[in-house]
Amino acid sequence: MSAESPGERRGGFRAFFAGALRPKKSRQVLRKGYSASTPNLRAGLQSNDDVPEMPSLAPLQAHRLKYQEANQNKDAQLGESRDHTAILHAIGVGGLDPSDPNAQHYEVDNRPPGEPLIASLTPDLWAHVCEYLNPGERVSLAFSTKTLLSRLGPAPWIALRLPENNDSRADFLASQDRLYPHHLLCFPCGRFHRRTQEGREKLQPADVINPLFNCPNMRNAARPAPRHRITHGRVLHFTFYQLVMRASRFGPRYGIAPESLSRRWRRDGWSHHTRYHIHQGRLLMRVVSTCFANPSLTPSQQRLLLYSRDDYWPYFSVCAHWRDGELMNVCKCALSHIPAPRTTAGLQGLEHRAKDMYHGRAHNPNALASLCGKCRPMRRCPECPSEYLVEVKLTEDRSNANTMLFRHAIVVTRWSDLGDGRSPRLSREWAAINGSEGGEGYDSFAVMGKRSISGTFESAITDDTLPGQRIISMNPKGKKLGEAGNNWY
Ligand SMILES: [Zn+2]
Ligand SMILES: [Zn+2]
Ligand SMILES: [Zn+2]
Repeated sequence: MSAESPGERRGGFRAFFAGALRPKKSRQVLRKGYSASTPNLRAGLQSNDDVPEMPSLAPLQAHRLKYQEANQNKDAQLGESRDHTAILHAIGVGGLDPSDPNAQHYEVDNRPPGEPLIASLTPDLWAHVCEYLNPGERVSLAFSTKTLLSRLGPAPWIALRLPENNDSRADFLASQDRLYPHHLLCFPCGRFHRRTQEGREKLQPADVINPLFNCPNMRNAARPAPRHRITHGRVLHFTFYQLVMRASRFGPRYGIAPESLSRRWRRDGWSHHTRYHIHQGRLLMRVVSTCFANPSLTPSQQRLLLYSRDDYWPYFSVCAHWRDGELMNVCKCALSHIPAPRTTAGLQGLEHRAKDMYHGRAHNPNALASLCGKCRPMRRCPECPSEYLVEVKLTEDRSNANTMLFRHAIVVTRWSDLGDGRSPRLSREWAAINGSEGGEGYDSFAVMGKRSISGTFESAITDDTLPGQRIISMNPKGKKLGEAGNNWY
């Protein structure tokens, strides 16, 4: 190769010049176009039949038009089909795709009827089976077929009417929700009540009396209506959660839209914003709580900022397990990273300014606070489906026109999965978040694995994904001391 290369290069050199002096290919094309078009322009004046006809469109424009025509029914941004007929046909076929985990499979049941088999077992045996079930499940069994109803007799129904079986009755009635669009299942009573504000139900602060139905147990402190505490003075009543989930499951006349639950409010220097979203039949909630924070707070000032003096609960939204683990320490750690403004007066200030000038940097009093490895990662409660993110953000302060506009604020965001809203006991996520017995043994890392509530929520709400955030346990050591521990304060 090396022996041939000089000759080659010479040839190449000559060829290069020859090539450079030859008119460019594109120029040739242009000239051709020109020569072709010039007579054509005069075609109207002097009819010259030898000249080929000029294409009406430039090739690129023609291609564009052709492409547009072919993709007329596709969304330019998402590439999704906008042809409704095509969508319906695709659903008809796509719904049966066995590899699609989200598709609903309607399998044709070819099995022979089971009634003779049920009838072949003795009533004693069925009574024995019933001993393993709770009153609600017994009634469900008796309710399933006529044969079982005759085998089990009226006993399960009579038992379900007893006051001590209220909870079981409510759980059984939850399965009949579809039949009662104008009613709402009341869990303290275990019965359906007529909705008194049908279609106009509005979530109010906790201190506003806002009954959705007339209930004899409304003022019964022994049987309180199930609710979830969001922050001070704000709760999510189970009835509203029911309304949202019913509307999503059966239709709008059964309840209200999840967007109607979103609220913004201020209290005790904190501002809060709630948002809700239904994902795969479960209600997800996000609460963003913000409070301005000064730099270099002492431990007691940090506590004053984070905890209410009324009940020593944090001002921001928390699940029932907030006292165990690192959540409060993470907040204090984040507060400690807020950069302190430097003195600009006197000799010290002069020294700072001289140093800044020497290093060629401008001093910025609104420097971004960078968090450390302890307080930056997202935290997930191991005992319930809740995730927390603590941030320090520069936020506009509109409270006082005379002070500087931007200040550092601590922002605590909580995402929670509230479950399917069937019943406070049967919805495991709801029970786990409230720390009630139905949610005992809930292991959020085992249930959720790598998918995060925050990721699901943000991608659905904001069409955006969160920056890659490590999720670690809120309680890595697994110590459960609750209020008795001293780590939380
Ligand atoms: Zn009631
Ligand atoms: Zn930190
Ligand atoms: Zn929790």
